[in-house]
Amino acid sequence: MLALRLLNVVAPAYFLCIALVTLVLQLFLFLPRMREDPTAARLFSPALLHGALFLFLSTNALGNYVLVIQNSPDDLDACQGAEARRALCPSPSTHFCRVCARVTLRHDHHCFFTGNCIGSRNMRNFVLFCLYTSLACLYSMVAGVAYISAVLSISFAHPLAFLTLLPTSISQFFSGAVLGSEMFVILMLYLWFAIGLACAGFCCHQLLLILRGQTRHQVRKGVAVRARPWRKNLQEVFGKRWLLGLLVPMFNVGSESCKQRDK
Ligand SMILES: [Zn+2]
Repeated sequence: MLALRLLNVVAPAYFLCIALVTLVLQLFLFLPRMREDPTAARLFSPALLHGALFLFLSTNALGNYVLVIQNSPDDLDACQGAEARRALCPSPSTHFCRVCARVTLRHDHHCFFTGNCIGSRNMRNFVLFCLYTSLACLYSMVAGVAYISAVLSISFAHPLAFLTLLPTSISQFFSGAVLGSEMFVILMLYLWFAIGLACAGFCCHQLLLILRGQTRHQVRKGVAVRARPWRKNLQEVFGKRWLLGLLVPMFNVGSESCKQRDK
């Protein structure tokens, strides 16, 4: 349990460090490099478009990260203690999380990167957090590849160029041909790639469960799937205008969980 509690502190710190490093690299390396491009037109220059897109992705990733923590699942204190009181609580979607030390309604899983339980109240923000973190990481990787390609005059036209970049740049780093800052960006490229793919996979898996009307906790417990249309399941999490809810994350589209909270 001590190891899990420690992970619950280390993982959010790790996430915030990666976010800060990404922001610093974008602001002080990638954006200035794009502004140096002499072929760029004054209006809608690549630097301006890149800055706007990165701002949109990172704001939504960090905004939803905060909302996941803010909208943490209800603490059902009444379910703790005597077996008789526990029996009154809705089941089997309720679950006692040992890390948070509380009973949560429609529990999905405990997320160590947000240090919080994921349930009906913050599921929408969690899915959007995974989606926008994935997009921000993959986009940072593309911007980083463009930066490395320009400063080291490397072509990424060959499909294997990205895979061979790390071993060749390590040997060049020790021979002095690659600077420390460039080597750091190259290492970050692989980290962004790994986080981007992991978050995309997690997001897709979570969306599949939402479409089926299931939580991760119910899958583990072997609870049968509710016989409901997938649109109903999607509306429960993302609201009636679910497509708008996916595209404009900060916009409250009146999901079922929001309505329950407002009551
Ligand atoms: Zn928890």
